[in-house]
Parts: sequence; C-alpha cells; structure tokens
Amino acid sequence: MTKTSTRASLHTLGCRLNHAETAVLGEGLRQRGFQLVEFGRPTDLLVLNTCAVTEDAERTSRYLIRKTLKHSPHAFVAVTGCYAQTGIEGLKRQGGIDLIVGHQFKLDLPSYLPPADALQKRTSPEVRHTKTMSREEFDLPYFGEPDSTRAPLKIQDGCSAMCSFCIIPFSRGHERSRRLEDILEEAHSLGARGYREIVLTGVNLGQYLHNGRDLCSLLRQLDRTAGLERIRISSIEPTTVSDELLDLLAGSSKFCPYLHIPLQSGDDHILMAMNRRHSVRAYLDLIERAVAKVPHLGLGTDLMVGFPGETEAAFRNTLAVATDLPFSYLHVFPYSPRPGTAALRMKRAATPATVKKRGALLLDLGHAKRLAFHQKQIGTTLSVLFEAGTQDGYRQGCAPNFTKVAVTGVDDLRNRIEPVTITAATDRWAIGHPALRQPMPTPVIQL
Ligand code: SF4
Repeated sequence: MTKTSTRASLHTLGCRLNHAETAVLGEGLRQRGFQLVEFGRPTDLLVLNTCAVTEDAERTSRYLIRKTLKHSPHAFVAVTGCYAQTGIEGLKRQGGIDLIVGHQFKLDLPSYLPPADALQKRTSPEVRHTKTMSREEFDLPYFGEPDSTRAPLKIQDGCSAMCSFCIIPFSRGHERSRRLEDILEEAHSLGARGYREIVLTGVNLGQYLHNGRDLCSLLRQLDRTAGLERIRISSIEPTTVSDELLDLLAGSSKFCPYLHIPLQSGDDHILMAMNRRHSVRAYLDLIERAVAKVPHLGLGTDLMVGFPGETEAAFRNTLAVATDLPFSYLHVFPYSPRPGTAALRMKRAATPATVKKRGALLLDLGHAKRLAFHQKQIGTTLSVLFEAGTQDGYRQGCAPNFTKVAVTGVDDLRNRIEPVTITAATDRWAIGHPALRQPMPTPVIQL
C-alpha cells in the first residue's frame, strides 16, 4: 500500500503538446499515490518536462533543477521531454538527476519510478532512452487532467519535415498519430468532466492520419461528439491547411475560428534555406482564402529573426509581409543554433545586436496588431470562456477567435461561457462587461 503524502510537483517548458503530456503524467502520478503540489513548493519528486527548441530553454531546465534541489534537497528528480532526448550527456553531467526518460518512453515515466513510499535519490541517473522512435500509431496510458478550462488533447506527435533550424525531428522523432477511437473517447471524457473547450495538439497536426482518416475526418467525428462545446486546433503548418479544413472551421459553431500558422520568414530565399515547404506567395494565398472563408478569424503566426543569411533586405521582406497580413498577434523568436540541424553549418549574416533590433521591430508590430485586433471587437458581443482567478483586478477569458477578454466586478465566472460586450481595448486585452449583467465602470489599468 503506498502512502498518499509523498509530494510530486510537475513543471512544463515549451509547447502546448508538452503541457498536454504533463497533464497525462500528473494523472499517472496521482494514480500511483503521489500528492500533486504546486511547482516551486517543497516536494519529494520533481518531474520536469523539458524543451530543446532554444539554448535558452535548455538553460532554464538546468536552472529549475538546481532551484528545486535548493528548497527540496532530497527530491527525486525525473527529467523528460525534448532536452532529455537530445541533451542526455549534459543532463548526466548536471548532477542531482535520478531518472532521464526520452520521448519514446515519456508517458510511461510514472511506471519507472520507485513506489511513492520508497522514493530515494540515486548516485547516478537511470536512463530510459532510445534514438530510434517508432513511426507507428501511439496510445496514451492515462487521460490527462488539465488544470485549465481549455483542455489540451494530444492527437499527433513527431515531425518529418526537417526544417533546417528545427531540433524537433531529432527530439520527438517522425510523425505518428494517435488512434482516432482513443481521441474520441478522451474528448468525450473531457466533455463529461466539465471541460468546455478542447485544444487539439500535436507537433505537425495537419499530418494527422490514422487508418486512412485524416485531420478533417477526425474533426467531423469530433463535431458529432456529444458534450463538447468548443474545439480549437493549435498551431498548424501552412502546407497542411486545406480548403476542406477551412470549410469545416467555417461550417460548425463548435470549431473555433482561429488559426496559428507559422510563417517564419517573409523572404523566399530564407524560406528555402530553412527548408520550409511553402513560398511567400503560397502563404499569402492561403491567408486570403482563410480570411474569406472563416468569418471573424483570429490569426497568429511564428516569425524567426536572425536565421543564417538573413540580410537587411530579407528582414524587411518579413516585416512587410507581417505588416500587410491581418494577424491578430505575432510570436517572434530569435534563431537559436541547435545541434544536429542543417542550419548549424550555415553562416550567420547578422550580429546579435542586429538580431535584437529586428526582433524588437517585430515585437512592436505584434503589439500594434494585437491592439488593432482588440479595437476591431469594440461594440461586438463575444462568447467568452472564463479562466479561474484574476489578473490586475480583471477576470479573464478567451473568445472563440482567441481574443483575450477581461471583465471586472463579477465573481462567479470560472469555466462559464458568457456573452461579453466589448467596450475598450489595450494591446493585452479586449475589455468588456458580461452582456447579461449590469455594466460596471471600466477601471484605469496599469500596463
Ligand atoms: S514543421 Fe518544421 S519547424 Fe515545425 S516541427 Fe516540423 S521540422 Fe520543426
């Protein structure tokens, strides 16, 4: 019999897919008798789900392990995720780590732990790791227990695209899809447990394929699944957004009118060097079709600055495309050289100061885009799913098109979907009041 007081804290770095997997791991730990505690609190077990997309993310992982061992020196430390897959030697040297689990075995991590009442630090880490990851379908050992009102639902893993800057094909392996029946079952279960929105997650979602059934077939089945109110797809590669998908998004009120489609660069030479599978023209055409087909579309993108060979002219092309397109927000990343990738051998053209300046220009543009997007909503009424808690005195929620909405003066909104009339905008939020309640004065906010 395991005791129930052995504490476990989990922490996630990186993408939405990692967050979905951490929710699954948390459920596995709970079932094994661990008591989950907030990350940062004293703990007996740390499970760190790492990211390797940038050097910075790796550094943060090492720092968080040291920080946890400072307040919990006897904590058993288990590390998984992309950095555990690609940076195994560095992690072994780090010290204080007891278990390293590569991606292939990630979701079995709870079964590699000693029983909750026999957890003890080791002199050297046990390693569960393989370089070759299966191309087969996969299943998940537990259903996730998400801690937000928007529940991530993992449907796909891995990527075979080999963009020249990206470590993900090395860390997560080739594309694999989850069994469609399992996805439907988990979606149904999430709906039954009260989650109002599910977010389909994967590394390369548009490549979903199980027994001849693609992402559109899956969406059609999810649309018919009882108990689900909102279905959102997370980041999706431009080459995999078909007209059929756009028509589906436009055709059902369950599907959120929202797309996050990475562009990376607005310059064809850079796109080619990145080994992206699309040209600028193809991306522009896609966005034109998406905006025409899907009313009230919220549109986000990823942009990379400082990729090898990015001249001032190439950067200006990116800036011009990002300015022209109707993005509601931009995610801007500096290029980070990653081991094993093709771009590592390419010559860098811009100095760190130039890269910083280019990033700052795009970030400013991103703020302006977000503000304009929020301003466009003034006078409209949005259906808002509210999160728990408050920020700066506001309760916050999210509209189907990913508008972040803030309201004041109402207490009981968590996990409720309410119509909100938008009355004001900042680059952080669209501010409003619940349409069915008494309007409250809008406070002055500190940004
Ligand atoms: S599509 Fe390219 S950037 Fe995206 S995960 Fe695959 S290799 Fe990485």
